[in-house]
Amino acid sequence: MEPQFSLYNTLSRRKEVFEPLTEGRVGMYVCGPTVYGDPHLGHARPAVTFDLLFRYLRSLGYKVRYVRNITDVGHLEQDADEGEDKIAKKARLEQLEPMEVAHYYTERYRNAMTQLGVLSPSIEPHASGHIIEQIEFVKRILEEGFAYISNGSVYFDVEKYNQQHHYGCLSGRNLDDIVLGTRELDGQSDKHNSFDFALWKKASPEHIMRWPSPWSDGFPGWHMECSAMSTKYLGERFDIHGGGMDLMFPHHECEIAQSTAALGHDSARYWVHNNMITINGQKMGKSLGNFITLEELFTGSHKMLAQAYTPMTIRFFVLQAHYRSTLDFSNEALQAAEKGLDRLMKGIEALGKIKPAATSTVNPAELERRCAEAMADDLNSPMVISALFDWVRTINSAIEGKESFTAEDLEALKATIHRYAFEVLGLQDERTTATTGRDRVTPLVEMLLEERLKARAAKDWAASDRIRDGLAAAGIRVKDRKDGTDWELE
Ligand code: ZN
Repeated sequence: MEPQFSLYNTLSRRKEVFEPLTEGRVGMYVCGPTVYGDPHLGHARPAVTFDLLFRYLRSLGYKVRYVRNITDVGHLEQDADEGEDKIAKKARLEQLEPMEVAHYYTERYRNAMTQLGVLSPSIEPHASGHIIEQIEFVKRILEEGFAYISNGSVYFDVEKYNQQHHYGCLSGRNLDDIVLGTRELDGQSDKHNSFDFALWKKASPEHIMRWPSPWSDGFPGWHMECSAMSTKYLGERFDIHGGGMDLMFPHHECEIAQSTAALGHDSARYWVHNNMITINGQKMGKSLGNFITLEELFTGSHKMLAQAYTPMTIRFFVLQAHYRSTLDFSNEALQAAEKGLDRLMKGIEALGKIKPAATSTVNPAELERRCAEAMADDLNSPMVISALFDWVRTINSAIEGKESFTAEDLEALKATIHRYAFEVLGLQDERTTATTGRDRVTPLVEMLLEERLKARAAKDWAASDRIRDGLAAAGIRVKDRKDGTDWELE
């Protein structure tokens, strides 16, 4: 029997029991970054959210093809028709090839994602490498009669499409509302209606990134790459399409319109959107001075930051909120996440110190059930974390001798904690992975503790205290127990 879980589908506006189109397999497409600037806090949430979904699907035994694109053809302002190509602008300013700019920021993005524990997707297609597929897709829409050519550009005929389908089905809008929200045409435009969007845009003479097409030397419209690349790698129908809520309109709405116009149906079965991160209650934006890159977070080099935060602290902070809830960044919230993660990791480490007993006073199956139920309920990661915290308390009680486990139950508990904390939530114990962490100093500390034991055996209390104080000065706290000595990094 297939494992069952529910996922909130933006399209139907309700939680649905997930059913893959092909048994045992899942196709998932997520809109990736536009590579003209450093990865920032806003990138962390969709990346971690869909990494959680990717990891969870795999833990259920699905074979997942996860496609996350790289937008490198030059992302345009607003509705993709007007404004400046940001990659080309940066290239001009820094006297670089546009592809140098795109490559540089793609590397920066991948690096930051690795640090956040985000797994690499199965395929990471670049928009610039799929111009032919995009042109073919535009041709199909033209053949179906839902687009028109105007002065070398191709536009999607929203009004005509809306007569047969519902433009706005994803975001819950109607064309009338959309008409009210768009500016009047200024008479210079090639478009029939202000709400029509570009499928192909003729390049102006100064536009650097351009490709030949049947209509003009130009470049694809913003929404086209996702329709073309999802179809190429996942087929005309696939399971999950994800992205941030900010992409719902117009980007995803236009993707649905493009696919429906070309293929006769929407491609994605479940549309999944993560909510946004705000900063002290405000939207993040360059003009607001609250724009924080991931590198600034990791190093603490931004005026709004009270300290540096490790990548895992950021990941834990994101996972502590349900992906559809708002998440507000503040130093207090991140400091709380840092403390919480530390407590969780210490609890997991303490698990190794429990000695098996003849009987168990608690049943670790309770943790497995709680975690499984939470994840199956639309990826409720905060509930998983709260279950893990409850069990950290139980672990600590067991160390104090107040609870006990059989060897078998202890193994089961370790396996469950490992599965949810590390495999599904994707957390890592940075205390052991950091180069300044526990692993590096362990041999040294163990040697000093041995010397201290010898000193104590010889009743040389002065030497024993000197070693303990020396370790304390290096941030290593020594704890004497009945059955030996323990230590931890502060
Ligand atoms: Zn997209």
